[in-house]
Amino acid sequence: MAERFNCPRGTRDLFDCDVSVFQDIETICRSVFLHYGYQEIRTPIFESRELFERSVGGETDIVSKELYGFEDSKRKRFALRPEGTAGAVRAYIERNMAAKGGVTKLFYIGPMFRHERPQEGRYREFWQIGCELFGAKGIAAEVEMLDLSMKLLERFSIQASLKINHLGCAECREKFKADLVKHFSAEKEKLCDNCKTRLVKNPLRLLDCKSPICGEIIATAPPMILCSACSDNFERLQKLLTEFGLDYEIDKRLVRGLDYYTGLVFEVTSKGLGAQDAVLGGGRYDNLVKELGGSDVPAIGFALGMDRAAKLVKFEKEKSSSARPFIYFIGIGARGETEAIRLTGIMRRYYFEQTHSMSTRPEWIESSLNTKSLKAHLRDADRLESSYVVIVGEDEIAKESLIIREMAGGNQIDVPTNLSDSSKIVFDITSAIRRLIEDRR
Ligand SMILES: [Zn+2]
Ligand SMILES: [Zn+2]
Repeated sequence: MAERFNCPRGTRDLFDCDVSVFQDIETICRSVFLHYGYQEIRTPIFESRELFERSVGGETDIVSKELYGFEDSKRKRFALRPEGTAGAVRAYIERNMAAKGGVTKLFYIGPMFRHERPQEGRYREFWQIGCELFGAKGIAAEVEMLDLSMKLLERFSIQASLKINHLGCAECREKFKADLVKHFSAEKEKLCDNCKTRLVKNPLRLLDCKSPICGEIIATAPPMILCSACSDNFERLQKLLTEFGLDYEIDKRLVRGLDYYTGLVFEVTSKGLGAQDAVLGGGRYDNLVKELGGSDVPAIGFALGMDRAAKLVKFEKEKSSSARPFIYFIGIGARGETEAIRLTGIMRRYYFEQTHSMSTRPEWIESSLNTKSLKAHLRDADRLESSYVVIVGEDEIAKESLIIREMAGGNQIDVPTNLSDSSKIVFDITSAIRRLIEDRR
């Protein structure tokens, strides 16, 4: 037997229920985002590697260890996107969206890639829905962002709690970095190799280390002291959140694993998720647009982990009618088979024209595609939970009639028709189905 292939480690195929839950999440997110004035953007799955080095940060785990990087034949360096903000900011600058003035609101849905150790709720290809708000500096934007985050989870009926922190301004962070360097230098010998590098290159990232020994040193690290402007700002935000009726908790250790955050950062966790309990995270990144060559535009955003949300979401999933055939055509004998294919085409065209708007669910018209006995065909139609079966064999062709059977009740009728007249066929089949529905009542 030829060698078989499996999904790469940490990835999976989404099909059947997984896909319909993902679709439901996407539909709900799209509608909520539109209510808040966000427009969808689709950026490439891969970007210049340097974009991620300069935005997410070259010293972060995401870029230094987890990036799926590659060179093309011209030796240009690219990477699969590990998150969505860098691409959105790149597009915002490249498309000169700032020129319109005012605020720009974007959202995206798609797969992201990180070479992490796969575990429960963590994949190497994972899906995110995120949004970015450009051009708003004040706390009103922060309140809107937090409200939007919680509104999404509320729409999914996900029990969630909000944690917030403030990473200060450049001045606060310089002071904090110095405090961290002092604290960690005293224990330098105990630090893991990564942290020894971080100590020199990016002290803030010291707080992200997962190693247990570094963890002990992290636990006693000094907290960030906000300057008076930042602390006023954070207090005003908290007051507004309370007035808004949004519950939150302050988590001084919340730093998020990306370099671009400034000021407010937040995370939404849910108890149903176990150890990896964050379902949504984000924050303000006021310097990134400028650092990537754009104008000085403040920004804030978040991303929702779809894989984790899907685990939590318990939609009342009534099986949609498009998940089973409405009419299943069965042809018996060579002539019956070709006749069944022809009739299937006629009915598909009819229902296709009936489905005027995108929101109307299409009817599934199926046809038997293999030669089988009538009994075997009926078993197939039953397995697919078909509503109606239309049977056409030599006898039916000779008599110019069709057998129409309602699968659930087993009622069956002979329907005379004119096999050379498409509109007569449509009329006869649809009226026969209507009759079967009425008989049932
Ligand atoms: Zn400050
Ligand atoms: Zn460490």
